[in-house]
Amino acid sequence: MAKRKKARPRAYCGFCGHEESAQRLLYRSVTQAICAECVVLCEDILQEPPERPLKHADLQKIRYCTFCGWTLRDAGRFVYGPCIGICPNCVAFCAEMNAALGGVEAH
Ligand SMILES: [Zn+2]
Ligand SMILES: [Zn+2]
Repeated sequence: MAKRKKARPRAYCGFCGHEESAQRLLYRSVTQAICAECVVLCEDILQEPPERPLKHADLQKIRYCTFCGWTLRDAGRFVYGPCIGICPNCVAFCAEMNAALGGVEAH
């Protein structure tokens, strides 16, 4: 019987918008992805205390971590991309995978 092969949708990093490639690993959630370089960036952001309060528009738009579904109240803090938010837990998780894979270095 003929089985239709589903074309795999192209994956883009929700932060920088770059497409997945051999050099660019993406860590995927159900609906979004983040590349290794942006994971490093998120780690940097999380090292610093939040200087500015979140914009109201951000809170309206992104109330859940795009990767694990945690709410902002659960996570305490998100790192925001143009259309996604990621909680510190998921940043740490991706960073661990990144390190395990010998991925992108911080500098
Ligand atoms: Zn990226
Ligand atoms: Zn999360």
